[in-house]
Formats: sequence, C-alpha cells, structure tokens
Amino acid sequence: MPIIDTFNRPLRDLRISLIDRCNFRCPYCMPSEKYHHAYQFLEKGQWLSFEEIERLARIFVGLGVTKLRLTGGEPLLRPDLDLLIRQLSTIPGVDDLALTTNGSMLTQWAERLKAAGLHRLTVSLDTLDETIFHKMSGEKGSVRDVLEGIRAAEAAGFGPIKINAVIQRGINDHTILDMVKHFRGTPHSVRFIEYMDVGNQNHWDLSQVVPSGEIIALIDAKYPLQRIGGTQGGDTSETYRFKDGQGEVGFISSVTKAFCGTCNRLRLSADGKMYTCLFATHGTDLGSHLRNGTTDEFLSHLIRVVWMKREDRYSETRADFQHNSQTSPKVEMYQIGG
Ligand code: SAM
Ligand code: SF4
Ligand code: SF4
Repeated sequence: MPIIDTFNRPLRDLRISLIDRCNFRCPYCMPSEKYHHAYQFLEKGQWLSFEEIERLARIFVGLGVTKLRLTGGEPLLRPDLDLLIRQLSTIPGVDDLALTTNGSMLTQWAERLKAAGLHRLTVSLDTLDETIFHKMSGEKGSVRDVLEGIRAAEAAGFGPIKINAVIQRGINDHTILDMVKHFRGTPHSVRFIEYMDVGNQNHWDLSQVVPSGEIIALIDAKYPLQRIGGTQGGDTSETYRFKDGQGEVGFISSVTKAFCGTCNRLRLSADGKMYTCLFATHGTDLGSHLRNGTTDEFLSHLIRVVWMKREDRYSETRADFQHNSQTSPKVEMYQIGG
C-alpha cells in the first residue's frame, strides 16, 4: 500500500543521487566560479555504500515506490556502478530502473549498464551546436561524445532514450528545431525542459525561461504536433506526437504549468539525505540513522512520517514565494539530481 501525503499524493518514484561530483560545469547547475578545483565535495566515505542504498531502496519499495532513477552529479563517475544496478534490479516490486547521465562517458558504460539490468536511460543534451554546447557544459563537454554515447546505448540494446534539453532564452533557444529534426524519425524523444530556479547558484531569472507553449508553437508550425499525454499519472512531461508518425517529443513545464498536484517523487542525496521536493531547503538525514545501527522498521517509520506530513508544492506557489536564500538556502540540483 503506498503512503499518501497531505495532498493525497502517493509515494511512487525515488531518485537516488550517487555522487555530488560531475565532469561538466553546466552554468545552470554547477557554475564553475563556485565549483572550482578547491571546492569541497562530499568525501567518498560520506557516500552511501551500495549495501546502504540497496537497503534503503528495499524499504522505499515496501512503502509503495515502484520507480527508481539513478542520478547525480554525474552517476557514471561512481565506480563500479554496474554492481549497484545488479543489486537494485533484483528487488521485487521495482517496475522501472532508470538512469540520467550527461552521456559523455556512455561509450565506456553502455554495455555494462545493459548487462547489469538497467531498464532505461535518459541522456542530457541541450543543443547540437558544438560551440553552444561547450559553453553550456562549462567548457567541459562535446556534442560528438554525447551522440557517440547515444549510439553506444542503442548498440547495447537500450530501447527509446529520453533526451533532456534545458532551454535558456538567448543561449540555445534558436537551436530547438535542429534538435527536433535530428531526433525525429528515431525511437528517441527529446524533452524540452523549462529552465528552473533550482538551488541558489545559477542566478536564475524568469526572463531566461522559454515557456513550453512557445516551444510547442515553434515546433508545431514546422512539424505539426498532436498532444497525447499529460502529467496526470505522475509524469513530469507532457507528450506530443508528430502527426506524420515520426515519433514523439515532450515538454517539462515546471515554471509555466506546474505539476505539483501529481508529484509522487522523493529524492535521496549521495550522503543519504531525503528531500520531498526539488526546491526543498532541508532534508531528513537517513544516512546518519543507517550508520547508527537503526532498524529497518525505524527507517520505514521515519520515511512514512515525513511523507505523510509532506505539503510541498513549490512550483505552484513560485510567484508568491518569498524565498530568502541567505537564511534558508535550497538544495542544489547536482546534490539531488533533478
Ligand atoms: N549529470 C546528469 C545529467 O546532466 O544528466 C544527471 C544529473 S542532472 C542534475 C539532471 C538533469 O537536471 C539534467 O537533465 C539537467 O539538464 C537538469 N538540470 C540541471 N539544472 C537545471 C535547471 N536549473 N533547470 C532545469 N533543468 C536542470
Ligand atoms: Fe553535471 Fe548534470 Fe549538473 Fe550538468 S546538469 S553540471 S552534467 S550534474
Ligand atoms: Fe514536486 Fe516540488 Fe516539483 Fe512541485 S515543485 S512538482 S512538489 S518537486
């Protein structure tokens, strides 16, 4: 039986951040002026071990979770990740085991991930323009590597891949149609994400957000679209199909069309803090409890209590939310993985 929060939302989806480090420095997530060579990330000993992650995952599944997503930071930087996937894929009740990656190391990983039992991949790729991509990855990544990674994933036997593209006005919005053209006619679907005010470091401003409505109109004018699915079932994206049968495209509209009403997601940081919202200002430290010899029953009780008191709906209240990042900073995206 799933547990229900104060808005009658069941707990279904657990996103597990495996590491707070990344080989990219996307300015909207980990701006390099803050996350430089001397920045103190978590020590390796602070990361939850694979045994601890598996133990927590089993407890979450016992509380109604059916979907697990591995993320980061960059999850492919976590050594021996395939061993964890093997462990998680054997948990009865996990219907969906997915991973989100920047794709830059997928050529080395794709086969091992598939063999370990990973079901699905999401690959982030904001543009096909090398110069713009270079800038959007903090001068760390290349489109070529990511496209090769996607090809390696196809060759390893992964089915349709979701391609996440964060759109920022004046940065990559003029490259949207190129992305659509490239992935139309393939099994993969691009999901255009509205740039969000996650964390406190990216200097987010509403003027940098390109509303999904605008992107839909742009695409529809060139490649006519038909809406086929919304966010009712807990999905974050609204899905459209190309009327000419050339595939699908999705839109994640956290800013202009909030979907808190069906939000069934919980997030775990690499050191075991549990967050009930992407925009949370504090988490519940399950990691410390784990390391103090706590029983599964206690952990399960704690998670249940936190979820049942959950009132988060940040995106619906963003306009009148007087956030003070000085006194109560929000958790950062690279800590909980989106
Ligand atoms: N490093 C991996 C990657 O980039 O796919 C996984 C972690 S990353 C934090 C997960 C997703 O969050 C990526 O698709 C990224 O583009 C997205 N993201 C990060 N910061 C964002 C922001 N401010 N607004 C919208 N999406 C963001
Ligand atoms: Fe790294 Fe992903 Fe954040 Fe980019 S979005 S800095 S790839 S964690
Ligand atoms: Fe869920 Fe928080 Fe996002 Fe709303 S703002 S959809 S509650 S994570």
